[in-house]
Amino acid sequence: MKDLEKRVAELNKLLHEYAHAYYVLDKPLVPDAVYDQLMQELMAIEKEHPEFIYPDSPTQRVGGKPLEGFNKVTHRYPMLSLSNAFSEDDLRDFDRKIRQAIGDRYNYVCELKIDGLAIALRYENGIFVQGATRGDGTVGEDITVNLKTIKDIPLRLKEPVTIEVRGEAYMPKKSFEELNKQRAENGEDLFANPRNAAAGSLRQLDSKITASRNLATFIYSIGGDGEAYGIDSHAEMLEYLDSIGFRVNKERAVCETIDDVLAFINKWTAERPNLPYEIDGIVIKVNRFAHQEELGFTAKSPRWAIAYKFPAEEAITKIIDIELTVGRTGVVTPTAILEPVRIAGSTVGRASLHNEDLIREKDIRIGDTVIVHKAGDIIPEVVSVILEQRPEGTVPYKMPDHCPVCGSELIRIDEEVAIRCVNPACPAQIAEGIKHFVSRNAMNIDGLGEKITEQLLKENYIRDVADLYHLQVEELAKLERMGQLSATNLVNAIERSKENSLERLLFGLGIRHVGEKAAKLIAEEFETMDRIMEATVEELTNIHEIGEKIAQSVVSYFQKDEAKQLIARLKEAGVNMVYKGKKKSQAAISDSLFAGKTIVLTGKLERLTRNEAKAKIEELGGKVTGSVSKKTDLVIAGTDAGSKLTKAQELGIEVWDENRLIEQLEK
Ligand code: NAD
Repeated sequence: MKDLEKRVAELNKLLHEYAHAYYVLDKPLVPDAVYDQLMQELMAIEKEHPEFIYPDSPTQRVGGKPLEGFNKVTHRYPMLSLSNAFSEDDLRDFDRKIRQAIGDRYNYVCELKIDGLAIALRYENGIFVQGATRGDGTVGEDITVNLKTIKDIPLRLKEPVTIEVRGEAYMPKKSFEELNKQRAENGEDLFANPRNAAAGSLRQLDSKITASRNLATFIYSIGGDGEAYGIDSHAEMLEYLDSIGFRVNKERAVCETIDDVLAFINKWTAERPNLPYEIDGIVIKVNRFAHQEELGFTAKSPRWAIAYKFPAEEAITKIIDIELTVGRTGVVTPTAILEPVRIAGSTVGRASLHNEDLIREKDIRIGDTVIVHKAGDIIPEVVSVILEQRPEGTVPYKMPDHCPVCGSELIRIDEEVAIRCVNPACPAQIAEGIKHFVSRNAMNIDGLGEKITEQLLKENYIRDVADLYHLQVEELAKLERMGQLSATNLVNAIERSKENSLERLLFGLGIRHVGEKAAKLIAEEFETMDRIMEATVEELTNIHEIGEKIAQSVVSYFQKDEAKQLIARLKEAGVNMVYKGKKKSQAAISDSLFAGKTIVLTGKLERLTRNEAKAKIEELGGKVTGSVSKKTDLVIAGTDAGSKLTKAQELGIEVWDENRLIEQLEK
């Protein structure tokens, strides 16, 4: 219990600190996801243990304190926050509670959650008289002069109504990028995100600065009683606001069920990057005012609305350990072992630390609480340490001086950030080298997994890849987890690999900088291993797409006696050393459908330009002409094709659309 109490105090302190930096200073200390995660943690504890709810707990408060220097505005109707949903379950839960409270005859309005800051605008008889920030929800800052500089805020409405409206002031993505670029040039601090940039721009004592910042607004509600304006639902309210002159976001929808809401969310999760402004979620509101009234409010937010937040790509967790692995080229890579945490839909337990410099720069220590970032398929990374949460007694991390696998001294090669084990006999490097040699895109030897390779090395059955070709079924069958059948299959797979074309072997050798593509280009050009081994840097760089770095690496690899011996032993074992594919240009042309054909392009092409299409067809041996005749073999018709298409149809000539052309070109 003591620990929990301590954690509650710590969370209160951190959240207050972060909220102050975010709301008051417009300079967040941590990403929103981290703030949200801590807030969720505190809310969960408070739910279980209401005795720990401090009167000023951040869970009970809206926003931050108004800034000094502005007149204060006491809101006639409080400006609240919204409760959050982070998953489908949260949304279904929200829906269930509403149904329980008001039955099932309700619907929702979904809107984009604009990532800006809330503003309140007051109009008397149609004239704009006062504008304010949300502040702490009760008292905000009077920023009327600054708001008057925003072009889409009407100074006079189309009807002489007295009304208070709420909305979001934001900075479009483009303006944000330009502003930060300018600030970088002037050596000024950058804004962390468009929300903070918008907030910082609006809370300027000099309104000329605000005017220069290119802000915009979307208005989304009336403060107080909407029914006074003869409307009785949120959807009607948005239309009304639009009709009297406000800028209202068009990307909204009335949804009859929570499934429709989820579909709206999915749509915008995908389309979000294409919007010219940032959104951080979707706001879902019960539509009818009568229903809203029945549901009411908590201290902090309405019960009839919720903000769904897009999945965060950041989370906080702890570093339990730092593990070192030795790669194929001897590079020693540190990896953070994390307390497992959910990020963007998957559980993350490890994060890349790249190299010693990065660890030092970010001062990452074992025991630290850190922010971890993961997006899509990207390998998770440690973004930064939360120093406020560093436990006592940690020490800066230091890479060892000796290889964690073979114990030989580690070396930092000039200008490289990587630290390497340069012992060619290091078992970790050999094991990684074999793993690479047998991998699918190299020699493609199935059935030689990590564990078997380890055993083979340990039992001294193999020392390098050439030894693989001397393995016997009887020997292999004695290994753990290896029966007679899998041993036979493995030997057969090794045997089959002898027939591979040269580029697979070249790639499998693991020469630095020689990837699959470079191996193919080199093998295609030189055709035999002997010729590659004799090639000079100049000859290699003559190949289009092979640069100096790759060429140097190939030459120095084959200069080494060990490499020469390895190739000799592979040759002796019967491994093919010849390129078996066709030379690219000849191969492509003779296989091509276009070879020797006369082709006419007509109409508008969408995906290729005329010239691109022509060049590609000619590359594959086709001839492109301008007019359709009996000699024409094929017509490619884009959109709005006219007389040439008609003529082709009359003559019975084959006609393709652009997609079919591209399909064939890519074959
Ligand atoms: P909120 O994100 O919980 O949602 C309420 C706000 O959404 C409203 O006040 C309004 O401004 C806005 N909104 C946008 N579009 C809307 C629409 N169509 N309809 C209604 N409202 C709309 O806002 P909050 O209460 O300011 O609080 C928390 C947010 O601030 C969280 O996202 C949190 O991560 C962030 N925050 C971050 C830090 C940090 O350190 N990074 C600190 C404090 C708060």
